Amino acid sequence: MKTCAVCHQPLKPLHSFRFQEGSLCPECYRKASLFYKQTITDLSFDEVVANIVKAGQTPDGFEISEKIGPFLAVDRKHHQFAILKGGKFQEEFSTVHAYPADEIVDCQVKGDPAAEMSALSVQVKMKDHSDLSIDLAKKPIRTSSFAFRQSYHLARRMKDCLDKEKIANR
Ligand SMILES: [Zn+2]
Repeated sequence: MKTCAVCHQPLKPLHSFRFQEGSLCPECYRKASLFYKQTITDLSFDEVVANIVKAGQTPDGFEISEKIGPFLAVDRKHHQFAILKGGKFQEEFSTVHAYPADEIVDCQVKGDPAAEMSALSVQVKMKDHSDLSIDLAKKPIRTSSFAFRQSYHLARRMKDCLDKEKIANR
């Protein structure tokens, strides 16, 4: 019987996925394709393994309860959140880190809608004294612009969401 080239479990006929030098089981394929974002048919064994290592950096068992813009994902079931780096969720998710929600000390929107120009971020202080920054506008932008108003609204929503998590997990 054919087995998965990576984890060596037996392959069922309709549940095996070919790469250049062999076949993978559904679970290894899920990771090797970086969560179905990359075709694996032309990948070598080394490339397959490299992708699986990369995918393994995904926070374990993260379930998205809420996602705010391309910035923040919350997992209420496991009381954790992840800061995203823009773009599509699964791609970026392979390299993000999940933080425990009960370690949020304080959360503030940093930006001044009354000024003419302002940068915009959400600052999260954690129990271990690390400061997390969710940057919506790294450089100051015109506060009267649609982009700023929309981002400011998102920043407020993220603060409210994280505040709620903080209280819920006390
Ligand atoms: Zn496998």
